[in-house]
Amino acid sequence: MKKLGQRLSTAFRRFMMGRYGTDKLNTLLLGLGFVSCFASALIRNNGVSLLFTVLAYGFMIVALFRCFSRNTYKRYRENRKYLLLRERIRDRKHRYFTCPRCRQTVRVPRGKGKIAITCPKCKEKFTKKA
Ligand SMILES: [Zn+2]
Repeated sequence: MKKLGQRLSTAFRRFMMGRYGTDKLNTLLLGLGFVSCFASALIRNNGVSLLFTVLAYGFMIVALFRCFSRNTYKRYRENRKYLLLRERIRDRKHRYFTCPRCRQTVRVPRGKGKIAITCPKCKEKFTKKA
């Protein structure tokens, strides 16, 4: 019995070789999938319930696809984008703007009212409410 378990574990490891596996973005996708699943079970309205069922399947299929994907570079970049976005949402002390000329992200302190921002890359000046 132990040998079968070992063989399965080796087979799984071989199957996962070169594949992406899981990351924070996948954890979020699976979480959203489970929440949608519970929501679809709790909601009485048939249309809304169906919508959440579709969402639940959607999230989980995307999470599985990402996990077994061989394009690890693309998956890594997706995860990095997600982590960056999450950090910005959690950062309550700053606001983030994009330079209208060169698309550079500029971080400014929050709650200073209307301020003049000078892009550190191309020196373009623009005003925003921070
Ligand atoms: Zn700029």
